Amino acid sequence: MVNIGENLQKKAFRRCGGLKILDLEKLSILIAEDSIFFRQLLVQTLSSWGYAVVTAGSGSEAWEILQREDTPRLAILDWVMPGLSGLEVCRMVSGRTGTPYIYLILLTSKDNKEDIVAGLEAGADDYITKPFHEEELRCRVKIGERIIRLENKISWLAATDPLTGVLNRRAFMERMEGEMQRSKRQNEPYSVIMVDIDHFKKINDTYGHQAGDTVLHRFAKHLSSLLRSYEFVGRYGGEEFIISLTGTGENQAVRIAERLRASLVDLAITVSDNQEALPVTASFGVAGTAVIAEGTGDMLLTKADQALYRAKREGRNRVCS
Ligand SMILES: [Mg+2]
Repeated sequence: MVNIGENLQKKAFRRCGGLKILDLEKLSILIAEDSIFFRQLLVQTLSSWGYAVVTAGSGSEAWEILQREDTPRLAILDWVMPGLSGLEVCRMVSGRTGTPYIYLILLTSKDNKEDIVAGLEAGADDYITKPFHEEELRCRVKIGERIIRLENKISWLAATDPLTGVLNRRAFMERMEGEMQRSKRQNEPYSVIMVDIDHFKKINDTYGHQAGDTVLHRFAKHLSSLLRSYEFVGRYGGEEFIISLTGTGENQAVRIAERLRASLVDLAITVSDNQEALPVTASFGVAGTAVIAEGTGDMLLTKADQALYRAKREGRNRVCS
């Protein structure tokens, strides 16, 4: 009953604040080369194959681009460049942790075995000798592209809840910690909302588990669709979801939760033909901090969970903080 196409899942994932790196319809490639002649030749060649191309004239410029959030995921680096050499850039990129994988191709006129080994040991995934052979370049770039797409798919599968298309609990917690760190640095408030679908067990018992799955899927999609691009939803467990609100204090988060709660009236979920829409309501627990000082993610989640418990106890279909 729940059949989410891959494109739809990707969209849902981006929508819920998933990794931007998954948006790879057109792969972009960084070319770092100080020779204008080779740079232009590479730009022309790669563009003619349909790649988006970003250029750098030095190793330092390349390193700056590779640290950006929207960095190209494949880089062709000349070995000898002013400032940082291609080899040094390889070392710096491969020495990082917690950043998306970048496939590195070293471009070099050095073609003795010792140099090639040194390049690969510095973290390059592959190398091409200059002057390059066009077909060889195309094949090597294709290999890089295949690896990046596989790597993306794996990261995406590892981060998503397959039924609802939103982040799974582990991925949500990871991203939440990142957002909290960022809020702390920027002295901004941060809040979370815990959401639990009311009487979900009854839906499962009355209409079956497939109907329950449909409700979960539609519910998660609905929440995601009402959030801003930097806010995201995760499935916390069972019929419980959690929303991350960066730059939002508790009072504002309560208003957002109230808006989400009210919007569920329009969520007409039918679980079988010739049947009226199921009325779905949910309870919301909100917790936030004006400025994150000593607070940890766990503390915030405990507070939100307690608020949610109160919302349930006080009769459900309500927001508590
Ligand atoms: Mg050079």
